[in-house]
Amino acid sequence: MQKSEALFTRAQKTIPGGVNSPVRAFKAVGGTPRFITKADGPYMWDADGKRYIDYVQSWGPMVLGHNNERIRNAVIEAAGSGLSFGAPTEAEIFMAEKINQLVPSMEMVRMVNSGTEATMSAIRIARGYTNRNKIVKFEGCYHGHADALLVKAGSGALTFGVPSSPGVPADVAKHTITVEFNNLDSVAEVFAEHGDDIACIIVEPVAGNMNCIPPVPGFLEGLREICDKHGTLLIFDEVMTGFRVARGGAQARYNIVPDMTCLGKVIGGGMPVGAFGGKKEIISYVSPTGPVYQAGTLSGNPVAMAAGLAALEQLEDASLYDSIFANTQKLVDGMQALADKHGVPMTTNVAGSMFGLFFTDVDKVTNYQQAINCNTEQFKRFYHGMLDQGVYLAPASYEAGFVSKAHDEAIIEATLAAADHVLGEL
Ligand code: PMP
Repeated sequence: MQKSEALFTRAQKTIPGGVNSPVRAFKAVGGTPRFITKADGPYMWDADGKRYIDYVQSWGPMVLGHNNERIRNAVIEAAGSGLSFGAPTEAEIFMAEKINQLVPSMEMVRMVNSGTEATMSAIRIARGYTNRNKIVKFEGCYHGHADALLVKAGSGALTFGVPSSPGVPADVAKHTITVEFNNLDSVAEVFAEHGDDIACIIVEPVAGNMNCIPPVPGFLEGLREICDKHGTLLIFDEVMTGFRVARGGAQARYNIVPDMTCLGKVIGGGMPVGAFGGKKEIISYVSPTGPVYQAGTLSGNPVAMAAGLAALEQLEDASLYDSIFANTQKLVDGMQALADKHGVPMTTNVAGSMFGLFFTDVDKVTNYQQAINCNTEQFKRFYHGMLDQGVYLAPASYEAGFVSKAHDEAIIEATLAAADHVLGEL
């Protein structure tokens, strides 16, 4: 760990917290973040040469495993023709066509550079299109760090939102109403009061930022109905779930058609890419065809498009998902059996290749309150034990884990052997 420690000390002198995105700093689990030098397939190596089986997958994008050969070659080839033009390219058409083919509700698509930009832009369009200001989001769902989305609930379901970060004006936050995930009654209550003023509901259809919490049966269907009744747009934030919980995202897995969808992570193949899209009538409301402004110097960047297309082309084979999902289930079932064997109170959730481990007595975790009531001290010990054993999990208990194509049965077995050891010592 010596090299990571030295790099972390040096990094903190010029980079806030030593990191360019806060969760990487290991604040939630304590200790020194590992500085990574390379990654390949299911593995990452740190600056001290230690190898880890990686279940963070760059926070989701690497569904094909790290350093995928076709993606790497596509990037090298595209870079040979220039890095950015600020003018349209055919690759952007291929990308929009491919997204439309795999996620048919995205009749029109615009590319951006991150998930944050995708959700921020989708919300602006929803507000412009409906001519309404209020939006509804769910407790524990994360949609990037645009002002309107860094908002927590007021003291009751029907109070206006309050900023969850300094720097977000209360005047902005008051238009965001936060309700309980997986609780349709809380949504119905808000719509009974404010329904005709609500531009959109934005939801992670499988919540992946409060560990992993799938929708309970009927929840997404209920949101669709409420939106239809009130002329409110339903936005699925599939930045994490897109091409991960099914090839066509959560909307394919649960068979719900949203009005707009936000994508990121997997569609960039590891490059900084996001996208939003949806019904033609709604998306054409954006400039230059419509009045809502949205733009980007590097949006649709040719190198990023090449990476994303190379990823999506490999994901067209639906059978690929069957084996990734089977291995995810095997991992989760194995973890549960080991926790039971060692008498550690733990429960799990799984959706496709996303999974969550919860150190709790609760049978099934379905909402934010249950997620935050889990035993974080036990998680920390488990986390560091696994890290020592060469398994890299997300360094916070509120993050979903990811399995990739590169996590074959032998990798899952090795992970379970490590967990057997660590859970036995908890
Ligand atoms: N939405 C969801 C569901 C996410 O998980 C994330 C990132 N974890 C974002 C939006 C924001 O994406 P980005 O970090 O690329 O801005």
